[in-house]
Amino acid sequence: MLEKNSLDRWSLENALDLYGVRNWGAGYFDISQDGEVIITPIPDRKDLSISIPRLIEGIRARGKEMPVLLRIENILDSQISCLHNAFSLAIANAGYKGNFRGVYPIKVNQQKQVVEEVTSFGARYHHGLEAGSKAELIAALSFLKDPEACIICNGYKDEEFVDLALWACKMGFPCFLVVEMPGELELILERAAIIDVRPRVGIRIKLASKAGGHWTESGGDRSIFGLDTTQVVALVDRLREVEMLDCLQLLHYHLGSQIPNIRDIRNAVLEACRIYVGLISEGAPMGYLDLGGGLAVDYDGSHTNFSNSRNYSIDEYCADIVETVMGVMDEEELPHPTIITESGRATVAYYSVLLFNILDVSRLEPQPFLSDIPEDAPDVIVNLVDVLHSLTLRNLQECFNDAIYYRDELRQRFQHGAVTLRERSLGETIFWHIIHTIAQDVKKLKRIPPELSELDDALADIYYGNLSVFQSLPDAWAIDHIFPIMPIHRLLEKPTRNAVIADITCDCDGKLDSFIDIQGVRRSLPLHELRPDEEYYLGAFLVGAYQETLGDLHNLFGDTNVVSVRIREDGTLDYVKEMEGDSVADVLSYVEYNPKAMAERFRHTAEMAIKAGFISVEDRYKVMKAYETGLLGYTYYER
Ligand SMILES: *Cc1c(COP(=O)(O)O)cnc(C)c1O
Repeated sequence: MLEKNSLDRWSLENALDLYGVRNWGAGYFDISQDGEVIITPIPDRKDLSISIPRLIEGIRARGKEMPVLLRIENILDSQISCLHNAFSLAIANAGYKGNFRGVYPIKVNQQKQVVEEVTSFGARYHHGLEAGSKAELIAALSFLKDPEACIICNGYKDEEFVDLALWACKMGFPCFLVVEMPGELELILERAAIIDVRPRVGIRIKLASKAGGHWTESGGDRSIFGLDTTQVVALVDRLREVEMLDCLQLLHYHLGSQIPNIRDIRNAVLEACRIYVGLISEGAPMGYLDLGGGLAVDYDGSHTNFSNSRNYSIDEYCADIVETVMGVMDEEELPHPTIITESGRATVAYYSVLLFNILDVSRLEPQPFLSDIPEDAPDVIVNLVDVLHSLTLRNLQECFNDAIYYRDELRQRFQHGAVTLRERSLGETIFWHIIHTIAQDVKKLKRIPPELSELDDALADIYYGNLSVFQSLPDAWAIDHIFPIMPIHRLLEKPTRNAVIADITCDCDGKLDSFIDIQGVRRSLPLHELRPDEEYYLGAFLVGAYQETLGDLHNLFGDTNVVSVRIREDGTLDYVKEMEGDSVADVLSYVEYNPKAMAERFRHTAEMAIKAGFISVEDRYKVMKAYETGLLGYTYYER
C-alpha cells in the first residue's frame, strides 16, 4: 500500500505526473487548479475548458445514470483540422505539388453522429469516407455532398456493392473501387459496361514491408487482403486488353492499425511508391496514392515504439510521407500524386470518454488480530505467530517463505479435517498480517528482492466499477489494449490506495489490471479512498475508436447512456444529444426474448402463487410492478 502519511506532500504536479495526463492528453485533457480533470476541446483555448465533474453534474441533472459515454464533439473537429493542417504544413515545407485528401474509415466508429460530423466539419478540407462493406457504402452515400471528397470502396464486393459505387462514379463523385481480390475486376468491368460508366479503379497491394504493433496482420506476404505483384501485373494486362487501363488511378495499401514505429511507415510508403512508379511505366494514369490507416495514438504518452504508443508526432508522420513520396517521384520525374490517408483511430480516439462510478471496494487487509491466541491452537498457527514476531528488515525474504509454507500447511490440514474453520480463519489472518508488514518494510530496503517487489500489486484493493469491460472497452479484454484510466476529481488529494478495477459482469476476465505507465505497464492504479455518501468517478479516456460497436452484451449489459456535448465559442456548453442506453427489455429482445410475453408468463406464475396461498392479490400487484420496473431499467447498477 502507498504510505498513508498525511504529512506527505502532494500537489497538482504529483497528480499530473502520476496519471500522465499531459503526456497522453494531446492538449485536450488536463487537471485544473481545483484538482478536477478538464477538457479543452480546442487546444490553446484554455478559456473554453470545462471540468468533467461539472459535466457529470449536468448529466445527472438530466436524469442520466452512470456509466455514461461522453462525446466531446469539438475534439473530433480539432483532430480533423490537426491532420489537415499537418499535411498542409508538410506540403508547403517540402514544396510538394500534389494535394492531400483524408478519408474517414467508417468501421472505426460507425455511429451516425460521427460520420455526419466528419463529413460536415471535414467539408472545408474535402474530407471523404472509406467504406469496407456494402452497408458502410450505403451509409457513406447518404452523406454524399462534396464532389471533391473521395469515397474509397474497400472490402469484398458483390454486385450490389459494385453497382452502387459505379453509380456514385457516374454521378460525378471521386468514388474508387479498390480491387482487393483478382476476381473482383471482372465483375467491375461487367457492371461498368451495363451501367455505362468509366469506373475509377484502385488496387490494394500486399506489401512485403511489415510493421510491429497489435493490429498489423494486414501487412506482409501473408496478409489476407490485396494483390501480390504477379496479380497486379495480370490486372494491368487485363485492363489493357479491354482498353481500360486509363481507369486505373489509385494505389492502396493498409499496413494495419496503430503502427508505433515511424520507420515501418516510411518503408511501406517507399515500397508503395515504387509500385506506383511501376504502374505508371506500364501506362496507367494513376494520380492517387492511398496509404491506408495506421497513424497511431499515444495512449500511454511515452512517445516510444511500444504498442500503446508511437515514436512520432502527427507532424513527423506527414512530413515523412510527403518527403518520401516526393523523393521517389522527383527521381523518376513524375507528377506528384494526390496523397490519401484513411486515418480512423487518430481521428476519433480522443473524442470519447467513458465515465463510471465506483460501487464498492474490497480489500485484502486482514481483520484486526489480537495477539493472544487460544492455548490449544494447532502448532502451525503458533509457527505463523512466531514468524510475525520475528520479522526484521534483515529477514523479510526468509519470513515471506516461511509464511507461505505455514499457510499452505494450514490449508492442507484443513483439507484433512485436522484444523477447524475458525482456526483456519485465524491462521489466514495472521498470514496476511505478515504479508502486509513485509510489504511495508520492503520499501525501506535499498535493494528489493524481486519476489517481494510486486507485493503491492498482489495486495491491491479491488474497486468495483459500474461498467462492463466487454461492452465498453472490448479491446482491453480481447487484445490487452491499455487505455488511460484515472479519477476525474479529488486530484489535489494524495491517492492512498492501490487498486485494480473489476467490472460488474461477475466474469473473472471482466477486470482492468493493466494501466499506462511511462516505463512499461503498471499492474495497479493508485486511487483515493471512497468517502461515505459521495460518488467516486473514474474516466477511461481515448475510447472513441473501435470500442463502441464491438461490445457483445456479455451478461446482458447493454449500450451505455451516451451524452454528446459541444463547447461554444463563448465558453457555454451545449448538451447536443442524449441517448438512452439499452434497457433490460432491449437487451433481452436482442437475444430473441419477447418482454411482453415474458411479463405475461410471469403474471401467470404470480396467479399460481396466489392460488397456492403464498402471496395475496395485493402482493401480486407489487410483484408485477417490480418485474416491470426491472424490465424498463438500465442494465447497469442504478442508485
Ligand atoms: C481499419 C482500416 C483503416 C483504419 O486504420 P486506423 O489505423 O484506425 O487509422 C484504414 N483503412 C483500412 C482499409 C482499414 O481496414
